[in-house]
Amino acid sequence: MAIQPIRLFGDPVLRTPAEPVKDFDKELRKLVKDLTDTMMDAPGAGLAAPQIGVGLRVFTYYVDKQLGHLINPDLDLSDDKDEEGEEGCLSFPGLSYPTPRAIRAVATGFNMHGDPVTLEGTDLMARCFQHETDHLDGVLFIDRMDSKQRKLAMKEIREAEWTGLSAPAFKFSPHATQGKAL
Ligand SMILES: [Zn+2]
Repeated sequence: MAIQPIRLFGDPVLRTPAEPVKDFDKELRKLVKDLTDTMMDAPGAGLAAPQIGVGLRVFTYYVDKQLGHLINPDLDLSDDKDEEGEEGCLSFPGLSYPTPRAIRAVATGFNMHGDPVTLEGTDLMARCFQHETDHLDGVLFIDRMDSKQRKLAMKEIREAEWTGLSAPAFKFSPHATQGKAL
């Protein structure tokens, strides 16, 4: 087991686009194992390498009892969307919000041995592929919400206990915080 600390919203690594994997070597296999162990321990339905501080285009998933990983993913999305589905993120502990996503996704990429892989997902699996691939582009689920939902979410995020535990992303009010952990 090699469980890594999960980076929280506010950490700049989550806003940094990840680099494509070039070497399908032992180090990459260790990264896939670390991601898998960390995701299963959390527990979560998916985890992208930037969430453990590694800027490479790799994610793992565990949806409908299917465990896997994908490297250098490329997505083909359906036009029909699920506007209402709830989505959470391990980098925003304890919070979930309706987030619009395509209902179906075909993800192409590679496994850790460098073999080409095609994955097809609907509903939660499709949502997971989109969420994790976004992480590799420095995009977060709050960016996918409509503006009204995002406003509500940001208010709760600013008030969340973990906010400010990593590099600060916000300017806080200079006023007393009434004992709230910022
Ligand atoms: Zn996430």
